[in-house]
Amino acid sequence: MEKGLISVDRWTEGSQVYFLTHLHSDHTRGLSSSWDRGLLFCSRLTAKLFPFKFPGLDLSLLRILDVGSWHSISLISPSSGEKTVVQVMAIDAHHCPGSVMLLFRGEFGCLLYTGDFRWETSSEKANIGRTTLLKALKDDVVDILYLDNTYCNPSYSFPSRDIAAQQVVDIIISHPDHDIIIGIDSLGKEELLYHISHKLNIKIWVWPERLQTMHLLGFHDIFTTKTTVTRVRAVPRYSFSIDTLERLNTIHSTVGIMPSGLPWVAKPLKGNENLFPSLITSYKSKWSTNGGTRTDKLKENLGSVDKFHKHIYSVPYSDHSCFMEIQEFINLVQPTNIRGIVNSSSCYVDPLYYFGRLCRANQPSLGLNYKQEKRVEGKRLIAVQTKSNVGSGKSSEANRKQGRTAELDISGVQVSKVNALRQVRRGAKIAQNESSD
Ligand SMILES: [Zn+2]
Repeated sequence: MEKGLISVDRWTEGSQVYFLTHLHSDHTRGLSSSWDRGLLFCSRLTAKLFPFKFPGLDLSLLRILDVGSWHSISLISPSSGEKTVVQVMAIDAHHCPGSVMLLFRGEFGCLLYTGDFRWETSSEKANIGRTTLLKALKDDVVDILYLDNTYCNPSYSFPSRDIAAQQVVDIIISHPDHDIIIGIDSLGKEELLYHISHKLNIKIWVWPERLQTMHLLGFHDIFTTKTTVTRVRAVPRYSFSIDTLERLNTIHSTVGIMPSGLPWVAKPLKGNENLFPSLITSYKSKWSTNGGTRTDKLKENLGSVDKFHKHIYSVPYSDHSCFMEIQEFINLVQPTNIRGIVNSSSCYVDPLYYFGRLCRANQPSLGLNYKQEKRVEGKRLIAVQTKSNVGSGKSSEANRKQGRTAELDISGVQVSKVNALRQVRRGAKIAQNESSD
């Protein structure tokens, strides 16, 4: 297959249909209210949020993917010009409201695109997702896993969101006379805020647009835009800075809490007064016993909570999977090949560096189990292996195909942020993080 079939989280290519995993801005670049390139498939909740995020968008273009159900889409094969059917299933990604993974089946094989995802092994939701995924795969093998590799490094280790949420509550309780501000994005972290509100029996201030989003999401009583009724305020991440905290503290004692799996340092980079976009450092050094600029440990029971600035706590509440969760997910899926979808994370690592050994294509006994034998007999093997990322163990069919480009064109799927194979294969690529957390 060639280009021109489907696109995921990418909006400028000429494809026949388009898919959106979730509404964070790093996945909607190129999408606008006037966008009209084709049908746009997304989850029901994402469709509900669309008019608010993109007012004026032609809503007749939207097609809803109900989670856990196969949807068949008739398209034209770019290579043969013949009719072809693409099947797709959305699976809850547990990242932010409406976020889904997308499982595709078609003449290009079986592809799983995680989008941004959190795979908490202790979570009941994840268990449902696991069941849905395994049921959907049945005897299929995922030929290419497009993976949220935001924290694809063993140094990224953080607790479940339930534990991290309680850490946030503990910080608030331990500052009874302080105002509290929490940095959040325009979508996500709702369950954290709900947990705080529920545990402390208080309302939480949000800015007016965020209140509208909360209402769309079904939260009607917890959030307010009145500053006088609460001491806890959730503010846009971009406005959360050392400078902001210091100014607030000239008026009233205020503590800032940044929930994120990202590593933070105390001081902004030169010329950048905004704290969090610049907080890139070695996560390993952060967690080491004498690490970084840590100035205080709140309490023993707060565990991984760090206070990097006199007014700011960093809490490892992450909507992306940590390394161990990524590993567990790959063990579950057992894909033939993996490609990272995030090439702008703070510590970029090609997932093949850590997980290539878990790929079927790199296992010495390639093709010897039942599933793989079944695949070899069929035509699914096409467009799976590529010259640059599989190495040994190519099938004759794959060898035949290897003259083609190793990029996604081979499957006809266009995805954003996928540049993994052009990147260094090991070590950290330090870059400013662009993805929402
Ligand atoms: Zn996201």
